[in-house]
Amino acid sequence: MPLVKATAIILQSRRWGDADRIVTCYAKTLGKIRGVARGARRQKSRFGAALEPFTVCRLDLFEKTGDSLFRISHVDVVSSCHSLREDLGLMAAAARMVNVVAAVTPDGDPDPVLFETLEQGLASLCQSEDPACTALLFQIRLLGLTGFRPQTDHCAACGKTRMAGAPQFSPLAGGLVCIPCAARQHTRCVALSQGSLAFLQQAIRLAPHLVTRLRAAGQVREEVEAAIERYVTVVSGRRLPPADFLSRAPQRVQEAVSSVRGRL
Ligand SMILES: [Zn+2]
Repeated sequence: MPLVKATAIILQSRRWGDADRIVTCYAKTLGKIRGVARGARRQKSRFGAALEPFTVCRLDLFEKTGDSLFRISHVDVVSSCHSLREDLGLMAAAARMVNVVAAVTPDGDPDPVLFETLEQGLASLCQSEDPACTALLFQIRLLGLTGFRPQTDHCAACGKTRMAGAPQFSPLAGGLVCIPCAARQHTRCVALSQGSLAFLQQAIRLAPHLVTRLRAAGQVREEVEAAIERYVTVVSGRRLPPADFLSRAPQRVQEAVSSVRGRL
């Protein structure tokens, strides 16, 4: 069993058996992997709280031939991002970001740029005054990095470059579609205003250090969030909790927090 050292971001952490924990993480040099930490839930565990979601850490891993599950033998925390767990809005947005990474990336396919994007995304979330918007911009960039860049230059279904009428975003086609193609889509398209289209195009094209300055509110925010939400659902094959779901149901906050923690 060779020892592998990796810098990784914890995406999800689940109970396993009586005392163990299984974590899904995105490692810079290994991509998305899963590992088991034996005894991680014992009171005096050597892992402590190091395997919590959003934590950036250095892992010592043992790889067993023929087994996709690594054994985690040691963890050093690089950044705990603990502020993301102290605010419900930040926690929900951070959970959305790591859940989308877990859902749309293949196992064992490392992309150092994706790793850095997630690391920077979580760091910028700590400073964000609008966590759901930061999570939205992160998802648009992530879709681009994973081969699912929303198509806004031509019809995503037939390729036509000149499209008349109000822009229609097809979650199934992965971008704007022309009116005849919109009518042929099996699921309803999201109508975008020109302002929403301009926001989406800027979010796709702006350099990462500039994109965090983008702001959206009102109709633009609602339309782009709806388009990306539905597109991510298609790409990942399932519905994930939205970035602001805790603030949508304040009367059920405790249930929602339990739900988030259960998924992480
Ligand atoms: Zn078309």
